[in-house]
Amino acid sequence: MPGRTSAGREQDGVVDFERRALARALGLRKGPACPACGSADTRPIVFGLPGERLFRAAELGLVELGGCCLDDAAPDFRCGACGAGGWRDGRYVPGGE
Ligand SMILES: [Zn+2]
Repeated sequence: MPGRTSAGREQDGVVDFERRALARALGLRKGPACPACGSADTRPIVFGLPGERLFRAAELGLVELGGCCLDDAAPDFRCGACGAGGWRDGRYVPGGE
């Protein structure tokens, strides 16, 4: 994985395992590929007060925390590679905030 500097492979394996376990525990669905840059690293934006597991999931880059207040205009997913937001109701919303 490009961009990694400090973590060794063993560490990556442990984090990978934790990411998969957390994603399963939280029932996360995989977002569509980013229409802006093509990256598959898109993350669902989760609203509401996050619990411990959700905080950890955000730390691991599995989700984005959207804050406590559900905003009707907010996008469903954000791209972890380029930061584009969108995919409201499965449809890409350019520049969605
Ligand atoms: Zn992107």
